[in-house]
Amino acid sequence: ANREQLPEFDGRGVLADGHRVPLLANVGSGTDAQAAAKAGAEGVGLLRTEFCFLGREKEPTHEEQVAAYGAVFEAFAQKKVVVRTLDAGADKPLPFLTDSTEPNPALGVRGYRTDTTSPGVLARQLTAISEAAANHQAEVWTMAPMISTPAEAQDFAALVRTANLATAGVMIEVPSAALMAERILERCDFVSIGTNDLTQYTMAADRQLGSLAELNDPWQPAVLHMIAATSAGAQGAGAKPVGVCGEAAADPALAVVLVGLGVNTLSMNKRALSPVAAVLRTVDLATAQKLAQLALRAASAEEARSLVRAQLPELD
Ligand code: PEP
Ligand code: MG
Repeated sequence: ANREQLPEFDGRGVLADGHRVPLLANVGSGTDAQAAAKAGAEGVGLLRTEFCFLGREKEPTHEEQVAAYGAVFEAFAQKKVVVRTLDAGADKPLPFLTDSTEPNPALGVRGYRTDTTSPGVLARQLTAISEAAANHQAEVWTMAPMISTPAEAQDFAALVRTANLATAGVMIEVPSAALMAERILERCDFVSIGTNDLTQYTMAADRQLGSLAELNDPWQPAVLHMIAATSAGAQGAGAKPVGVCGEAAADPALAVVLVGLGVNTLSMNKRALSPVAAVLRTVDLATAQKLAQLALRAASAEEARSLVRAQLPELD
């Protein structure tokens, strides 16, 4: 088989019983977005805006930002596009926002926290997102990375509204945010779980260290409990939307578990759309929920993974 060829995906994530799970794409540019649209993504679940400006010494201009975001919105007319505001710091340094001398960058001033050390950059970014959204027909949702408290979610949502953007949410990447999801969702419209960081912070294991890969595994039952807590909080706050946009969503067996834990949408690399859709089509919601309970009760990542995979014989 030609490895460059994308597997086919018909553009509708759905379980065997008809329960809809929209499958969205993670993108970092307009070119990426076009390729994701071509692969059948139902929208964008994560636009990593910092990828548009990596290596920049200076804050991108208003015009540069409007053009970069507009290129993504153009590829997804009438579809949902979740824009994440700049996630600078730790594994994604941006010289104009991050202090390279911090002793512990993963626990430092990164993501939304840079709004306190570099005030104005976030508000200007939101203005550019708003202008780009007004130029195109996409349904734009805006979210902040690295949120730790309900107060941060409230402050971010206020900034989003000031910029005349309709829908404000936050990423759940920190255990404190997962545990406080209900209070957070009383203050904003949706959450998206970033399992890459949520795993790193739950397990206290640097996501960039290969030697810690066993700990840094989203199948770790502790991580699944964080996701379950997030869903429970979302239910408590009036069944507000919960997405997953970390790498976990691209693992077909884990995608089933995420749906069983109450996740509403999954966002992934475009190459994962077809394999994830294929497995979702083989299970109904009750089965996904049963598999999620099995995984939550496991004592290890390995046990969770093998218990679930044994019940999904269509996986190779
Ligand atoms: C995540 O942390 O899971 C996430 C989607 O964000 P990033 O990988 O860009 O930190
Ligand atoms: Mg992250």
